[in-house]
Amino acid sequence: MTTAAIIRRNRSLESVLDEAREAYAAKRPKSKAQHETARTVMPGGNTRTVLYHGPFPICAAKGAGAYMTDLDGHRYLNLLGEYTAGLFGHSHPVIRAAIDTALDGGVNLGAHNAMEAELARLVCARFPSIELVRFTNSGTEANLMALATARHATGRAKVMVMKGGYHGGLLYFGGGGIPINAPYPFVLGAYNDISATRASIRQNAAELAAILVEPMMGSAGCIPADKAFLVMLREEATRAGIVLIFDEVMTSRFSGGGAQVLDGITPDMTTLGKYVGGGMSFGAFGGHRELMRIYDPSEAGSMPHAGTFNNNVLTMAAGVAGMSQVFTPAVAAQLHERGEVLRARLNGIFADAGVALQMVGRSSLMSLHATAAEIRTPGDAASSNDTVKELIFLDLLERGFYMARRGFIALSLMVTDTDLDQFAAAISAITSDRADVLPRR
Ligand code: PLP
Repeated sequence: MTTAAIIRRNRSLESVLDEAREAYAAKRPKSKAQHETARTVMPGGNTRTVLYHGPFPICAAKGAGAYMTDLDGHRYLNLLGEYTAGLFGHSHPVIRAAIDTALDGGVNLGAHNAMEAELARLVCARFPSIELVRFTNSGTEANLMALATARHATGRAKVMVMKGGYHGGLLYFGGGGIPINAPYPFVLGAYNDISATRASIRQNAAELAAILVEPMMGSAGCIPADKAFLVMLREEATRAGIVLIFDEVMTSRFSGGGAQVLDGITPDMTTLGKYVGGGMSFGAFGGHRELMRIYDPSEAGSMPHAGTFNNNVLTMAAGVAGMSQVFTPAVAAQLHERGEVLRARLNGIFADAGVALQMVGRSSLMSLHATAAEIRTPGDAASSNDTVKELIFLDLLERGFYMARRGFIALSLMVTDTDLDQFAAAISAITSDRADVLPRR
């Protein structure tokens, strides 16, 4: 293509996007007004950065099943699935009943309750690496606690994370790191690059307390780890006495026992979050008995692990109901398969249309990338065309489908086959309607 043609194409993509933004804004006066009110009391009218998108974000009014309705009355199939925490949809009857029962028993009891041990039992039974577990209020906190545990156990200071990885708001390594990260001495590994990362581990071995890794990089664009990469991390961690931590906050849904069961690789510690608490605030860190026993308050010299809401009855009850009655290992296997089928189907639509779009991911989690290049690292994902992604995000909203602005999809158990047929039809229609501005393969 000539430079002039590229400029013409880009210009028309920009103008198409401008029109889509105007149409979005015109149909959502109430979301807009709410955003303006929120801006007066919250920075950017927002209390969770990832939910912000231009021209102003959607304001949800309510949800039921797999559907969400915004303040202006538009109804969407919710494919964002609350960034994986919404596995049970918006109003699962089993979860609802469990929360109602918990409410009947009273909240803020300020004592141990029977539900916390039951949720712990369910978690320990399912995740091979977790012999003992502790609960937190978020995945971020779970990762901070896991790192603290590893540093204490090894007496070493450094932590290896992967460049582009995400382990929570204070453990974000997009672009190499952010100034507000937790102040640990981090060593950056290169995801899926076995030789470079192995060399870096060996070079820092004596000082490395932990290697913290996502079995699939969620925030970076649903980039699965090569199994050989995880095997290498396992071998090197064992050899150097480094605590290998799998951040399964997102990937724990890949099977009844997470990515570690699917791949047959057992880390020393695992962190969890999202749906495991039945859709309530949740996080957990766990691992070998010897690592976790430092938190046993009956032992001399034990370490404190605090958190007013760690065992709150709503999360504990919802988690027990969700893990025991709804998201059984058999259901996890079905959801995994559905995701695999959907991703292949969408990629088939993109390939047939000849557009440079693809869904990358694993199991029931996937992310749209506007490039035809193979994506194995966060660096590869950087070549994705963000303008195209915004256009598709807005076009999908127009057709009643809600995914993350960055293109992320997390299937909930409430989404039906008919919903997915309609979604595939919408993707097909958008690729054909926008054929003139979408990048070609
Ligand atoms: N780790 C991973 C892999 C995540 O995707 C997230 C959140 O998206 C977190 C940790 C942080 O969890 P939370 O938002 O509950 O703090």
